[in-house]
Formats: sequence, structure tokens, C-alpha cells
Amino acid sequence: MLSGALHRIRPTPVVASIAIGGISLGLMSKLMVRNIHADSGAPQKVFGGGLAMVSLPLESSMLVNHNTKLLRFKLPSNNHISGLSLTGAVLTLSWPKGRWLPVARPYTPISASDQPGVVDLLVKRYPDGKQSSHLHSLQPGETLRFAAAIPGVTWKANSVPHVTLIAGGAGITPIFQLAQGILRNPEDKTVITLVYGANTDEDVLLKKEFDGFEKEFPGRFKAVYTVSRPFEKSPFRGGYVTKQLLEEVTESPLDRKTKVFVCGPPSMETSLVGSRSEQGILEQLGYRKDQIHKF
Ligand SMILES: Cc1cc2nc3c(=O)[nH]c(=O)nc-3n(C[C@H](O)[C@H](O)[C@H](O)COP(=O)(O)OP(=O)(O)OC[C@H]3O[C@@H](n4cnc5c(N)ncnc54)[C@H](O)[C@@H]3O)c2cc1C
Repeated sequence: MLSGALHRIRPTPVVASIAIGGISLGLMSKLMVRNIHADSGAPQKVFGGGLAMVSLPLESSMLVNHNTKLLRFKLPSNNHISGLSLTGAVLTLSWPKGRWLPVARPYTPISASDQPGVVDLLVKRYPDGKQSSHLHSLQPGETLRFAAAIPGVTWKANSVPHVTLIAGGAGITPIFQLAQGILRNPEDKTVITLVYGANTDEDVLLKKEFDGFEKEFPGRFKAVYTVSRPFEKSPFRGGYVTKQLLEEVTESPLDRKTKVFVCGPPSMETSLVGSRSEQGILEQLGYRKDQIHKF
């Protein structure tokens, strides 16, 4: 059936290499699923680096707003941790019915990399989204295939006194991880300003956790929320993440050493970081290219 399908399609070289890559990844994943056994002693990393062919059962699934679920997967034992690098992501695979290529999509867990026994994904479902719909359909006990660990950004504690983190919508997951990694490292004294843009009040994710950071780390963490379609009596600012907003709430890149990290939908990233033909808001504010990091 597969060879029949390949004959019918007659792929171009580019399509062929993507297809072959996908098939290889799928077959490799089927063949190489690891049986991870618990050892006594130091925790074992499930996603220590590179390939990590492993199937994990869903422990629980909770709707956190109208389109986003918190999915908790069980690691092989309580002596296992994800072991991902800071802001690292996991590549997930699924085989939707009727398709001969697997769907592969990355997700950045929101659980700490040293949390024993479980790994948590916060997944926004897109209309007709292949993997996000599959993940939202999973029931406790069903498994998900993980293929690899994808490294995150490089962060050196105290490399600058202050960072601005800018997130849009579901792009909050790596930004949350970076904030958590900086704040939970007792050696790291970096001050963080988070600017988080969302569509509506209910699209603001992880608010409780950020409120917790503000209480636990006074003077080191400040969050500013802005929503483009605020509810009536919304506690948040209204509108997009604009130049004026950033000028008002963040450190000037000219006054002190700072870096900015950005993760959001493509339109937001382009307006902030710019494109080949146009300067973005951050450069207009005086950030040098080497101060700007896009996930
Ligand atoms: C490193 C990395 C980490 C990520 N971490 C997370 C995470 O923690 N949580 C999470 O929910 N997502 C995360 N994503 C996005 C995720 O990988 C998928 O792209 C997303 O779930 C959509 O996949 P899909 O198969 O459901 O949609 P697809 O079938 O690929 O797309 C269906 C339609 O949905 C829309 N769509 C898809 N993706 C986006 C998007 N990002 N913005 C706007 N519209 C879109 C488009 O209109 C598209 O036509 C991450 C992406 C990267 C690169």
C-alpha cells in the first residue's frame, strides 16, 4: 500500500526527502522505543539529549481554558526526570488515521526538568490542527510517542542584570521555563520583566504561577499583561505589545545591560524582531541584534 501510494504521488526531490525523513523517523521510532527501567540512585534523564524514542502514558488531562489543555504524562518511574535543558522542547509523534507519514511537532514542557515521575505539556488546540487535536483527544492511559529532545536557548546566570521576556499566546511555555529556571537558581540574581500579550482575558495562561513568582521573588519578577480583545472590566491593559508599551514598562536597552527573549505567533515576532526588509520594534527601541533572542 505504501509503495502504491509512493508511485501515485511521484514526489519532487524536496518532497521526497521530507517524506523519506518522515518515514525514517516514524520507522525508527517504532523500532527504537526504549524500555526505560528504574535504577536506584541518581534520577535517570528520559530526555537527556538528542534522540529519546520513548512512549509515555497520559496520566491526566485538564482543560484550562476554551482551547488549551494541561496534559500530564507519566515517566517510567518516580526515579525518572525529564532532564531537558532549560527551555528545551520534546518532539512528539503521532500517526493520524489514513495518513502514511507521522505528524511530528515540538512542545516545551512547563514542568521543571528535575521534577520526578511526570512531564507536563500545556497545549493549545488549533482548529484542524493535526497534533494539537490528537493531543486533546488523548484519554488517560493512552500513550504518546516522544522522538527527541530539542535544545532550548543558552542562558548563563547573571550574564546581564536584567532580561525582558515577551510572549504571545501559547508562546508562553518556553518563556515560563526561562523565568522559572532563572528564579529557581539561587546563584542567579537576574531581574525579569515579563510582557505577555494574549487575545482575550481567558487566553492568558499560567497567571497563577506568575502571580506566585511576583510574591516569592519580590523585586526580581514583574509581569505586565495586555490583551487585544479585553473583557468588560478586564484587569489587563488593552491592545497589542507595542513600542509605547515596551518603552513604558521595560528597561531601556541603552541605560543598562539587558537582553530580550521573544516567543509568540509569527505576526507578533515579525513586528518585534523585524524582517529582512523592515526593522522591528525592538531595534527601533535601541536593542542590538545580539541582545534579541527568538525561540
Ligand atoms: C520549539 C517549539 C515549542 C513549542 N511548544 C509549544 C507548547 O508548549 N504548547 C503549544 O500549544 N504549542 C507549542 N508549539 C507549537 C506546536 O509545535 C504546534 O505547531 C502547534 O500545536 C500546532 O500544531 P498542529 O499540528 O495542531 O497544527 P497544524 O496541523 O500544523 O496547523 C493547523 C492550522 O493551525 C494554525 N496554526 C498552527 N500553528 C500555529 C501557531 N503557532 N500560531 C498560529 N496558528 C497556528 C494554522 O492556521 C494552521 O494552518 C511549539 C513550537 C515550537 C517550534
